[in-house]
Amino acid sequence: MVNQVQVIRGMHDILPADMPAWNQLEDIYRVLAESYGYRQIRTPIVEKTALFHRGIGEVTDIVEKEMYSFDDRNGESLSLRPENTASVVRAGLENGLIADQQHRLWYCGPMFRHERPQKGRYRQFHQLGAEAIGMQGPAIEAELILLAARFWKRLGLENIQLEINSLGSSDCRSRFRETLVSYFRDHYDCLDEDSQRRLETNPLRILDSKNPHMQNLIKQAPKLADSLDSDSSDHFSELCEILDLCRVDYQVNHRLVRGLDYYSHTVFEWVTDSLGAQGTVCAGGRYDGLIEQLGGKPGYAAGFAMGCERLISMIIDQEQVKPATACDVYLVMRGEKTQAVAQGLAESLRDQIPRLNLQTQAGGGSFKSQMRRADKSGAKLALILGESELKAGTVSIKSLREEKPQQEVSQEHLVSQICQMLN
Ligand code: ATP
Ligand code: MG
Repeated sequence: MVNQVQVIRGMHDILPADMPAWNQLEDIYRVLAESYGYRQIRTPIVEKTALFHRGIGEVTDIVEKEMYSFDDRNGESLSLRPENTASVVRAGLENGLIADQQHRLWYCGPMFRHERPQKGRYRQFHQLGAEAIGMQGPAIEAELILLAARFWKRLGLENIQLEINSLGSSDCRSRFRETLVSYFRDHYDCLDEDSQRRLETNPLRILDSKNPHMQNLIKQAPKLADSLDSDSSDHFSELCEILDLCRVDYQVNHRLVRGLDYYSHTVFEWVTDSLGAQGTVCAGGRYDGLIEQLGGKPGYAAGFAMGCERLISMIIDQEQVKPATACDVYLVMRGEKTQAVAQGLAESLRDQIPRLNLQTQAGGGSFKSQMRRADKSGAKLALILGESELKAGTVSIKSLREEKPQQEVSQEHLVSQICQMLN
């Protein structure tokens, strides 16, 4: 026997048993996002590598070490998308959706990052996201947060907390950057290798470090909030005001800077302690700078991305999965000549009863084993087409879930009888 080829490490098959949870997640999100006026956008899974270098930033974990990049047959460097925001902005610019316009967009799909696989962290994972383009001010940031809050409610999920912070305008950020660099320079020997390197390239990211030996140092570090100019702090307090008014609880986390480079003003994360180490289920904020960085005119944009696998774990753990639609009717057949007629009968029932979930026996088998399959399918009714029924122009109906005598019905009354018994 030849060896079996196996799935790539960190990538997963989503098997039928898990699909009800996935469909539920995606269906609820689609309906919710559309109800806030967001419209779906789909972009290619592969983009030019340059898009992510420019859109995410050279000195981020994603671009430095997590991208799946390769040269295509023309020698051009392409990458599997590690996130979707850069692609959405690219698509918006390329299709003329962005200039002086407002757009609310949502997306859903797989992303790819070459990280060390562990629970809640995979190499192919899925995100649900929203991007609001062309809107200045904190109201749209609040809307994105409120949409997420309502999503948790509709999913039946508890124990997800909101953390927010403000990075201020780009001026504030560069001023803060200087303060921060000088603070960390004074404690250079306490920095790990990664952070010493970041001190030159992306010092804000040091605040994001998970290294336990640096936590004290980070705690004592200057706070962004103290470097905000008055416009930036007004912006942030207005956001807080809206959240208070809408009764959304939040914590201001001064260390929240987000991994990606393009954020300004509000950044937020929704976190849970019920998933272990990978506790962030949604992350986002304002990223005005990205549009210009990708070649557009200065503009406004804010958005978030949610990690589907982490949410699916929560839905399953908190027993919020609704049962998938089961089979209504299972058609079994007895005798050699019945197969073709049965198939025809099934098609005619599908024509006449919209949304009927009907499975037919295929692949042969004794009557007994067919009935076992009928039972396993979860169907309420078994239809039996045997040679005697064939001759008489009838079909037998057996209730699989209730104690009722089997009935033989003429084909002409079959539809009404099925409908009556299913209701
Ligand atoms: P982390 O700090 O956990 O690496 P991140 O800042 O890289 O997260 P984002 O790029 O903001 O994550 O992605 C948004 C969300 O997508 C995350 O909050 C998480 O829920 C999910 N996510 C990110 N990377 C992965 C991954 N490798 N596997 C599964 N989910 C992921
Ligand atoms: Mg990451």
